[in-house]
Amino acid sequence: MRKPKLRELKEAVTALVKGPYTSKFPKEPATVPEHFRGTPTYVPDDCVGCGACGQVCPAGAITIIDEYREEKGTLVRRIERNWAQCIFCSQCYEYCITGKGIKLDPDFEKSCIDKADAIDTHDKELVFCEGCGGAITAVDHFRWINDQLGELAFANPSLVVAKYAEMNLVGADTGNNPRKNLERDNFMKILCPNCRSAYILSDEYGTS
Ligand code: SF4
Ligand code: SF4
Repeated sequence: MRKPKLRELKEAVTALVKGPYTSKFPKEPATVPEHFRGTPTYVPDDCVGCGACGQVCPAGAITIIDEYREEKGTLVRRIERNWAQCIFCSQCYEYCITGKGIKLDPDFEKSCIDKADAIDTHDKELVFCEGCGGAITAVDHFRWINDQLGELAFANPSLVVAKYAEMNLVGADTGNNPRKNLERDNFMKILCPNCRSAYILSDEYGTS
């Protein structure tokens, strides 16, 4: 039998004194480094429902869908992330517009038996166009844009009306005229970009 090399002998003695290099996970919780890029987890109160995370997710793990809810009688924005598809790249965390809507949780142990348990979801109320009735974006996103713009928000009548509605200075819905009849009284309404441009063309040139 060949004699063990000195280096291997040294390693064996060191391991006997210091213990093994491997951790005892999963028997004991694993300790992770301070800047560990762990599980991206939504913080619903700091998420404004803009959908940017869904656009940058390279794995298609995030679904943003405006769906009808029977119990609410209206469309609601559902934001859903599927752990089973997540590749832990943290792009959603990096590009979250509020910088706080997603946190990187040190927890990385996400194994589960039922695939449904790998899905994490939250809802956001939507703001609708008073011209065509289509969903514009999430109410919280509208508020966030207003806050970011400050007084510059007064350049956009839709944002002004939303702000006034929030302060109870106008009704939440100032009326709904069919798009073909967009006239001057439509100026101070919450309009989607399509209806806003149709209104401007109609007001300026009498055509949309
Ligand atoms: S970490 Fe990457 S793959 Fe996972 S949800 Fe975020 S963007 Fe998608
Ligand atoms: S606020 Fe952040 S977490 Fe929420 S939808 Fe937008 S990008 Fe995603």
